[in-house]
Amino acid sequence: MAATAYTRRFVSADTDPADAAQLENYYRQLADRPIDNPAELEKWLLDFSELESVIDEYASRRYIDKSCHTDDAAIKKRYLHVVEVIAPKVKPLSDALKQKFLQSPHRASLTSTRHNILARNWQADVERFRPENVPLETAVDKLVTEYDEINGAMTIQFRGQELTLQQAARFLEDPDRPTRQQVWELTQQRRLVEREKIEALYDQLLPIRQKIAANVGLPDFRAFQWRANKRFEYTPDDCLRFADAVAETCMPLVHELDRQRRADLHLPALRPWDTAVDPQSRPPLRPFDPNDVDGFVSKTRQIFATLSPALASDFDQLKQHGNLDLQSRKGKQPGGYLMPLEESRQPFIFMNAAGVHRDAETLLHESGHAFHHLAAANEDLVFLRSAPMEFCEVASMSMELFGDAHLGVFYPPADAARAKRTHLEGIIRLLPWIATIDSFQHWIYTHPGHTRADRQQTWLALLERFSSKLDWTDFDDVRQSMWHRQTHLFHAPFYYIEYGIAQLGALQIWTKSLTDPRTALANYRSALTFGGGKTLPDLFTAAGIVFDFSAKTIAPLMKVIGEELERLQR
Ligand SMILES: [Zn+2]
Repeated sequence: MAATAYTRRFVSADTDPADAAQLENYYRQLADRPIDNPAELEKWLLDFSELESVIDEYASRRYIDKSCHTDDAAIKKRYLHVVEVIAPKVKPLSDALKQKFLQSPHRASLTSTRHNILARNWQADVERFRPENVPLETAVDKLVTEYDEINGAMTIQFRGQELTLQQAARFLEDPDRPTRQQVWELTQQRRLVEREKIEALYDQLLPIRQKIAANVGLPDFRAFQWRANKRFEYTPDDCLRFADAVAETCMPLVHELDRQRRADLHLPALRPWDTAVDPQSRPPLRPFDPNDVDGFVSKTRQIFATLSPALASDFDQLKQHGNLDLQSRKGKQPGGYLMPLEESRQPFIFMNAAGVHRDAETLLHESGHAFHHLAAANEDLVFLRSAPMEFCEVASMSMELFGDAHLGVFYPPADAARAKRTHLEGIIRLLPWIATIDSFQHWIYTHPGHTRADRQQTWLALLERFSSKLDWTDFDDVRQSMWHRQTHLFHAPFYYIEYGIAQLGALQIWTKSLTDPRTALANYRSALTFGGGKTLPDLFTAAGIVFDFSAKTIAPLMKVIGEELERLQR
């Protein structure tokens, strides 16, 4: 599909999105505009969407600039102006326009699925809003910031060097076992120093969250988060069924993988520092020369071209628009992300390629998100362009799995098989962790006033059910407080199962691609075009897969993965 130029019809070309007064003027115009029939309401929605796209793209570009140049004070200042001045100014103005739409007598005449979804989403936000919750949410933010500060300040001293815990984690892959053990112990000792503080902080968070839910008239904070996360199509029971299915169908594979690992490492028992090392002590995979990022891009493009010429041409658009910043360099923020630019309707990919296999996975993953945005670019309402998270990650996780069949562009066959095996193993090990974190929170928020001892007991029972049988001798205290490091529990309660739901979708697409790759890819691509204009189950159906997370769906997927792992040499 050729790139389309989207022209402004409402916001003038010389508008400065950093000028709050100019933006406010546009919001006022929309707030005051009389709407006398459904056609005028549609036109009004388009203008509202255009205004928000202009602001959104400006904000995204400031964020991208900041992450590419963390050491530039002027860039940081322009970014902070968006966060501290523009965003708080625009938020209530935007909310008022959503109210205006919901209250318009002509809304009932807009009966398309898209418009119904829009109304449902905005209605949920409006119904959830209580002015008395604003100071409570500020109190939560303050505690979460405190948690971040505790985490961010943790370092260890190792071989005369101060390492962050992320830097230290690299040594857990070291083939030398005493090195691994030493770094693991230093890391855990450092975490345990903060144990009391983090427990106390969580004890403070829970009653505030309970009050937030009570203010909206809901029985518990789980019911509140269900609405906040717009989970219209699945229930807490569905998530608990997911956990049961993982215990039943995924855990046998985990135990089998652990048995193989133990045998390969020639160990009587696995200890917590034996889980990240390559079991055959091979050097890390090197998919490309870190100084040749262009080569990395062209190899990845080759994968897309093999899958479908349309994907390759979508990928080319990113390069043509200057929307790839992949090379690791000084002054760049760590990590990787996909950022949609909503006015130009182009995606931007940011990452720090260093020549490791994770980079190849990351670029496939973020490209999946990019294909999603490009496929949905014809949706004129920015509010409907993005799918729910549970489906966005289907787009990206499927692309990682599609890519697995073509890793030969990076590796000789044995290494390609090893990379694929590591990927599938990672999926099998992630699903139980998702079940653990999710089930833990179901218990936490439906047992207000619980004691720390009860909480610990619940946590340990979940680990018993959903984790590897490691030898934890002498480290019970570490095991008891392992959840402290899962930032989602503090930042975004209940937000985690989304990855599990999406992974089940991606695995379904992948298993179909093993027998009929063309149809699997065609269904995948056609589902992406809907953006957020269909419900979650309908998006799954469009992709040729089922929206169900019970054993009925998971068991066959685990069977295929088990067979693939057996087929791929160790
Ligand atoms: Zn993603």
